[in-house]
Amino acid sequence: MDAAFFRAWIAESAAVVESQRDHLTQLDAAIGDADHGINLARGFSAVTAALDQAATPTPGSVLRLAGSTLISKVGGASGPLYGMALRQAGKALGDAPDVDASALASALEAALAGVQKLGAAQEGEKTMVDALAPATSALAEALAEGASPADALSALSAAAEAGAQATISMQALKGRASYLGPRSVGHEDPGAASTALILRALRDVALRQARGARLPASGDCPSPQASRRAGCTSPTWPAPLPPPLTR
Ligand code: ADP
Ligand code: MG
Repeated sequence: MDAAFFRAWIAESAAVVESQRDHLTQLDAAIGDADHGINLARGFSAVTAALDQAATPTPGSVLRLAGSTLISKVGGASGPLYGMALRQAGKALGDAPDVDASALASALEAALAGVQKLGAAQEGEKTMVDALAPATSALAEALAEGASPADALSALSAAAEAGAQATISMQALKGRASYLGPRSVGHEDPGAASTALILRALRDVALRQARGARLPASGDCPSPQASRRAGCTSPTWPAPLPPPLTR
């Protein structure tokens, strides 16, 4: 995975945050101050502009610039937390021009450590940690079991989504929602929901790349019919992406 892959992840995250902006804001309206979608959409739009303007030749430099931009442009708790996450991930990736899935797993562990250092939230306290922590564990476990990077990132995304759903029954013990006490139970945490979206974007970019990597040389297999004529072994190309998770 090179710098272009990480820029594609940020672009995909920006698009999905923009399309889910109102949903995230509604989640925050229930247990916070109704600005989470607005905060993140503004932040990712600033990140997109920053990446358009500056040279980011390595995966680490993409994430470090994204993180610094979120810290400087987003108010609220989530800007510094996501900014810290991306900066720590970027630092962990160093200046390598290309990183493998296990380096990405280590980077996400560094992101989680950064979020927990800054926000002091543990799992079960109804924050973004409840999506990020199980997701990073699922990625590491899948890779340790020999899963392909694309399958391991699917496990990451599924665990983030399950973690976000699990926040519904939790009482918030950190962040603005904790002011509600037991009344915070019964609502999905907005930051956990946005973390699941951002990690789903990572999965989608990886699946797209994996699908592209399986493509034969140009012109060989442009359609199932042509594939059969050309004797291609994979007549179902292009493999469809899994449907987006419904929320
Ligand atoms: P604010 O709460 O300042 O309005 P946002 O609405 O943008 O900021 O973000 C709220 C989200 O930030 C919460 O849903 C939660 O996931 C996350 N969050 C808040 N405090 C913490 C914390 N201490 N640790 C981890 N995440 C936190
Ligand atoms: Mg808020």
